[in-house]
Amino acid sequence: MNILIINSGSSSIKYQLIKMPSKKVICVGSIERIGSTDAISNYKTDANKVEKIYEIASHKAGLERITSLLLDAEIGVLKSTEDIDAIGHRVVHGGADYTETTLIDEEVKSKIKKLSTLAPLHNPANLQGIVMAEEIFTTAKQVVVFDTAFHGTVPVKAKKYALPNELYENDGIHAYGFHGTSHKYVSEKANEYLHKENTKLISIHLGNGCSITAIKDGKSIDHSMGFAPSNGLIMGTRSGDIDHSFIYYMVNTLGYSLDDVNELLNKKSGMLGLTGFNDLRDIEEEASNGNANCILALEMNAYRIRKCIGAYTATMNGLDAIIFTAGIGENSSLMRQLVCKDMGYFNFQLDDSKNDLRSKKIREINTTDSKVKILVIPTNEELEIAKQVYELLN
Ligand code: ADP
Repeated sequence: MNILIINSGSSSIKYQLIKMPSKKVICVGSIERIGSTDAISNYKTDANKVEKIYEIASHKAGLERITSLLLDAEIGVLKSTEDIDAIGHRVVHGGADYTETTLIDEEVKSKIKKLSTLAPLHNPANLQGIVMAEEIFTTAKQVVVFDTAFHGTVPVKAKKYALPNELYENDGIHAYGFHGTSHKYVSEKANEYLHKENTKLISIHLGNGCSITAIKDGKSIDHSMGFAPSNGLIMGTRSGDIDHSFIYYMVNTLGYSLDDVNELLNKKSGMLGLTGFNDLRDIEEEASNGNANCILALEMNAYRIRKCIGAYTATMNGLDAIIFTAGIGENSSLMRQLVCKDMGYFNFQLDDSKNDLRSKKIREINTTDSKVKILVIPTNEELEIAKQVYELLN
């Protein structure tokens, strides 16, 4: 079964064509900077690697470009759009209705649209990807995998806010949790690695967006993000936790509009706000040259992760392993070192030389006498989506 995975973001479309059940990746690619005259198209198969810059005005034009590459007589991998059996779409917010992988119909699309109020940066672009894919791949089954789905198991005591009850009951206001596909994938890999199903894990996803999940016996039981993917850890451009009274102060006393505050919290804060840089590689480089803002930002970032580890260890009354994943978690030995420093009380100790080794494989970076394992597990959200689509359709 040929499954095309589409992750349609606000200015990009990432895609992978995966053959199931063999899990063979036939092709990987992306189109970035959609809406500009110099959008970048990347396309890679076993035999070919092509990067080109074009004008790509819309998501529709982007998906048409992807289709023409897939069908290209020389470098393509398909003869017809009908060779795609199913498309797996990543959608960020599934709200209270969707905690499972779901076949797309008109009702599902209209609910995704409605849920855009909860994830305005993500859901509209995700929906656009679905509508375009339906137009182009008319015979393929269209399936959606929600980022919130894995957190459907978080108990009410953990996900409910201390607000008047009717907001929970009538308006669905509670913590949903995000990055579920990634946390599910790496926690299952950790259980395989540990040869155990009944485990207490803390999964730390550190990319542009960052989140941390407590996973007991394979189920998400608490998560650092909430109603929207904005709170919890310090992220690339998002502030993570703040005291909500600050918003009223900004508006009522400092004269900001609500939209300005929203923009500030989501796009100008986090590591960018603290350092002037968004990419962690630049921040590490600056820190190594003595940039005090960068040194402090790295410490603040690690401090918040450490507090969450303490909280989740208490929640689960124990811990078997912590997992680092995503761009920063998989690649930044410095961030892992800052997080794992002096955690003897929690029974884990980093082996510095193992931490410094680079690899694309699952690895254990704790000392041999560390009771709690420290694992680095490369995430693979596309493969997880392909697995879920395949399971649903079979
Ligand atoms: P997204 O949330 O967009 O999927 P990624 O998981 O790709 O993000 O992570 C992006 C982050 O990973 C960036 O901040 C980047 O700086 C960081 N990153 C990638 N490689 C390295 C590296 N070698 N060292 C430190 N940080 C890295």
